[in-house]
Amino acid sequence: VEQKLQKTCDLPAETTDGVKVSLGGNIELPQEADIVASKGGEGVGLYRTEFLYLQNDKMPSEQDHYNAYLDVIRRLGGRPLVIRTMDLGADKMPSDGKFPVETNPVLGLRSIRYCLTTKNLPLFRTQLRAILRASAQGDIKIMFPLITTVEEVRHAKMVVRDVMEDLADDGFDYDFNIKIGIMIETPSSALISAFLAKEVDFFSIGTNDLIQYTLAVDRANEKLASLYSPGQPAVIKLIKEVVRNAKKAGTDVCVCGEMASEPEFVPLLLGLGVRSFSVAAPRIPEIKLVIRALDIPTCEEVARRAGCLETRRSVINYLRDTLMGIV
Ligand code: PEP
Ligand code: MG
Repeated sequence: VEQKLQKTCDLPAETTDGVKVSLGGNIELPQEADIVASKGGEGVGLYRTEFLYLQNDKMPSEQDHYNAYLDVIRRLGGRPLVIRTMDLGADKMPSDGKFPVETNPVLGLRSIRYCLTTKNLPLFRTQLRAILRASAQGDIKIMFPLITTVEEVRHAKMVVRDVMEDLADDGFDYDFNIKIGIMIETPSSALISAFLAKEVDFFSIGTNDLIQYTLAVDRANEKLASLYSPGQPAVIKLIKEVVRNAKKAGTDVCVCGEMASEPEFVPLLLGLGVRSFSVAAPRIPEIKLVIRALDIPTCEEVARRAGCLETRRSVINYLRDTLMGIV
């Protein structure tokens, strides 16, 4: 099996009926870009940048950001990179006690909400300056986390435009046409995905939070692990809606949550129309192997059938049996 996986690294992520799938990796630290490259990933579909804020006592400078991003670009050797702006709070809490203490941190002032607060705009702009400067050196896209409304997206894009003007005044180069995307990881953003699709170049479905917010279940609470599942019919319905709206608007859509790293869900996602996956970097060969064993009509039938199942258990059983019959 090891040998088979190793060989898969160099092969394209393509179904048996010749449909090309984009398969990238998720990283949290710059060094992990090496894994993406060595495992045959097409690029990085999700670069979580929280480590910059978690490893030091003081806030990262523009140069700290820039150095990290350039490091990843170099390691990726020309492959594309999606940088997600700061997603602190809830499960990504800095230990220095500087982050607001709230009764319900998962539902609180975190992530993009934190960044768009007037007081914190300078910190957001610092990161955006670094991302934009790095965009002159490699294939970079910007992604905003935890979007729930159209206003947030417009506000964030306005800040990007403003930072671009400053950079031009300061004589820095940047990709004037840099692609901007958002994470779809709340029920709200999934439900208004038709509106959001008009605002951005791409969606990336973050199933880790989407499950949490849809099922109202803490993603880290082990006592609720059986509720917390991508096999929940409500989650599948939301993903279906997002992909449909994205396609209608011509907006790219990727799945970057852990669901995409679980082999039994690959046929379902392909069947729903997903053609772009970003998975935990070490899982790339395994997921590629699954993609290379599937054809789209079979996947569409799987999605149609799974969409009619009423419980998590029946969905999971069906998807596991299906995968066993194929791979
Ligand atoms: C997600 O929520 O699915 C996701 C990819 O982001 P994170 O796990 O960093 O919250
Ligand atoms: Mg998330």
